[in-house]
Amino acid sequence: MTKRAFNFNAGPAALPLEVLERAQQQFVDYEGAGMSIMEMSHRSAAYEQVNNDAQTLLRRLYGIPDNYHVLFLQGGASTQFAMVPMNLLQPGRAGAYVMTGSWSKKALKEAQLFGETAIAASSESDSYTRIPSLSDIEVPAEAAYLHITSNETIEGTQFGAYPNVADHATLVADMSSDILSRPVDVSQFGLIYAGAQKNLGPSGVTLVIIRDDVAVDSPKHLPAMLRYDTHIKANSLYNTPPSFSVYMVKLMLEWIEARGGIAQIDQYNRDKTKLIYDAIDQSGGFYRGVAQAASRSTMNITFRIHDAELEKRFIKESEAQGFVGLKGHRDVGGLRASTYNAVPLESCRALAEFMKEFQASNG
Ligand SMILES: *Cc1c(COP(=O)(O)O)cnc(C)c1O
Repeated sequence: MTKRAFNFNAGPAALPLEVLERAQQQFVDYEGAGMSIMEMSHRSAAYEQVNNDAQTLLRRLYGIPDNYHVLFLQGGASTQFAMVPMNLLQPGRAGAYVMTGSWSKKALKEAQLFGETAIAASSESDSYTRIPSLSDIEVPAEAAYLHITSNETIEGTQFGAYPNVADHATLVADMSSDILSRPVDVSQFGLIYAGAQKNLGPSGVTLVIIRDDVAVDSPKHLPAMLRYDTHIKANSLYNTPPSFSVYMVKLMLEWIEARGGIAQIDQYNRDKTKLIYDAIDQSGGFYRGVAQAASRSTMNITFRIHDAELEKRFIKESEAQGFVGLKGHRDVGGLRASTYNAVPLESCRALAEFMKEFQASNG
């Protein structure tokens, strides 16, 4: 059997072994075509099927209403930081942002290049260790949209519920690090985007789910590639798409469906993270969670040990035992375990065991 690492990478991140093996089976000869999917025209019937299947699976799994488009774009979530204000910010309107950490700061910075912005709420004064409470979010009257980062990958915080602003602004969410990890009422949102490389597949493709009325007023001067309506009209085939990445997303969606769908994945994710949060909370203070308890993420578990030298030793010894990716982001420091959809429960159990053993020999 293939030896697999206990992969807690933040992104690109773990993919299910079953998905990798399925891709391996089809790698050289895709369904008898005598070539791989990568070698085919993106105008071929076979690729069009992949493109359509991936959309259909997403619609079914997420319960996406008919008045939404599902797009597969390039440029990562980072390009969406700019495309959102470029397309949605009409003159005289503002982009409102909930500031929850590193990624929301980057999103705001790009919007400032294109128009007025406003900070609707912020947890900066608490070093972004929590999600602001929904009642503290103030959306100005001139706001065209309210942008949230549903899960802050670096700080390890996650929205529990989403603000309801539908009657005066379009809700936009960067779901890069928790897309398809739990049920979401898509109809609350005007636009959802996510780089694929955390929960959805390999890097190279960015998912956009956009309501049909949100894309109609884009300014005339925008380049074709940076307009949502271009990609809507062309069914994500305006130019050469990242065909292999979209194919991998399709396999990942089939895997999620085979496991019973989003509700089952959600429960599985909760079971996984509980093992690790319990190891933190039951350590008598040896480990300390970075995020405040009510804002804890089920995708990125950030934690510290009281002594920076011990953190270094933790990383070194964990690596020797087959764990990968446990070093925290340099903005936060400490340790981080990313437990995305494809990370198996066994990896989380092994990590919780390792944490207890490490504490026993260093506490
Ligand atoms: C990783 C990440 C991004 C950046 O994604 P790219 O695809 O690398 O541009 C943006 N937002 C969040 C929440 C992320 O986790």
